[in-house]
Amino acid sequence: MWLTVIGSSASQPAAGDACSGYLVTHGRASVLLDCGAGTLGRLQEHVALDDLSAIVISHLHPDHFSDLIPLRYGRRYGEAGAREIPVFLPPGGIVYLHGLAAALSKTRPFWDGALRLQEYAPGITIEVDEITVGPVEVVHGIRSFGMLVQADGRRLAYSSDTVMCDEVQLLAAGADVLLAENTLGGGAPAHHEPVTHLSAVQAGLVAARAGVETLVLTHFWHTADRAQACAEAREVFAGRILAACPGLSIEI
Ligand SMILES: [Zn+2]
Ligand SMILES: [Zn+2]
Repeated sequence: MWLTVIGSSASQPAAGDACSGYLVTHGRASVLLDCGAGTLGRLQEHVALDDLSAIVISHLHPDHFSDLIPLRYGRRYGEAGAREIPVFLPPGGIVYLHGLAAALSKTRPFWDGALRLQEYAPGITIEVDEITVGPVEVVHGIRSFGMLVQADGRRLAYSSDTVMCDEVQLLAAGADVLLAENTLGGGAPAHHEPVTHLSAVQAGLVAARAGVETLVLTHFWHTADRAQACAEAREVFAGRILAACPGLSIEI
């Protein structure tokens, strides 16, 4: 199983980056975890859209789903007969996206024919060919789901956006690689209360307690110093630490 970072920025893309997007591939299966601003163009450097098996959205903050909108337009008005791409949304996601469509366009139906929207449920595994994705609810400003991605006995835990909580620790337990947000790392500005994200040190603590091989820090504030964030996580985690960046690809 391979993880390729498409975009690794928090709220707005840093220069040369995109917001959240992570491509996981194994055999014929390719799953995009999140589809934030700027991911669509970079995604196609790695996989043709017709070959994308599915998209799974962790939560309904725009930095994690907003490129579904240009994707819908491209599929809808592109080549005739383009396949609908399955999109797995958190609970309530279908109503939310229909509400967004109502503000964007008079065309009905808006999403059908381009994207096949469906919702996942916590604890129910999504199966995409040889890859399984298990949503695990974490704690954030809105409902947010980390993902346990498995193929061929290997496990990737993706934190989504979360505070430090038991749920993210349980998600990471037993994973080989932890892909963890660190919005507050690398000299990012202080967030408004209540804080709804992790620092790099907290991401490192989750990795250390879970005993993962590799920690991939991601969801960087656009002004963050990524090397500094890695150094912060290093204070508490002795394993391999990587800073996500577009095109970073690792075998899990
Ligand atoms: Zn985010
Ligand atoms: Zn968020």
